[in-house]
Amino acid sequence: MNDIKLALLGSQGAGKSAVLVRFLTRRFIGEYASNANSLYHKRLSIDGRQLNLEVFDPCSQSSEARCILEEPVDWADGFVVVYNISDRSSFIDAKNILLQIREARMENCKGEVEVPVCLVGNKQDLCHARQVCEAEGRCLAQEHRCHFQEVSAAESYQDISALFTQLIRQVMELLKYR
Ligand code: GDP
Ligand code: MG
Repeated sequence: MNDIKLALLGSQGAGKSAVLVRFLTRRFIGEYASNANSLYHKRLSIDGRQLNLEVFDPCSQSSEARCILEEPVDWADGFVVVYNISDRSSFIDAKNILLQIREARMENCKGEVEVPVCLVGNKQDLCHARQVCEAEGRCLAQEHRCHFQEVSAAESYQDISALFTQLIRQVMELLKYR
């Protein structure tokens, strides 16, 4: 059985918990506890392989992304970095987080080992209030050589499921060589 650890990162209110709960339960509830770190467990099967998935969903903190990062950056095998397409400041936070993941991984024992990351532009349903165009998200992801997906945790399951599945496949591929 493979153990796979993922962490969600992104500014408060970007929709990290909503994206994760949508993936785990297929549902959108609307409001999510934000006063504590949560660790979710799920058994799932991908490509015929049984997996133990653990996902770290940090509590909402100030925009000091550094403190959000410290714990999960060493722990996780892969990251989902979430911003809100209708909030430019959350995109700026996502940019900083991507840089910090890169720096932290270089400083730490894992050296320059590639870390699977998916950049997620959430709240696609709020496109009437869009502050970050899709091309900007795509461009940032290219810079960091990571995947990119716009989603709406409020409205759909399919894209979210696809992005987690793709990320997990990438992690499984790397773990094979560890
Ligand atoms: P977190 O702080 O990053 O974990 O953000 P939450 O998951 O708690 O979501 C913050 C708020 O945004 C909540 O009120 C959610 O209901 C709302 N939200 C999350 N995802 C979406 C979405 O895709 N569309 C819309 N319209 N609202 C969303
Ligand atoms: Mg949350």
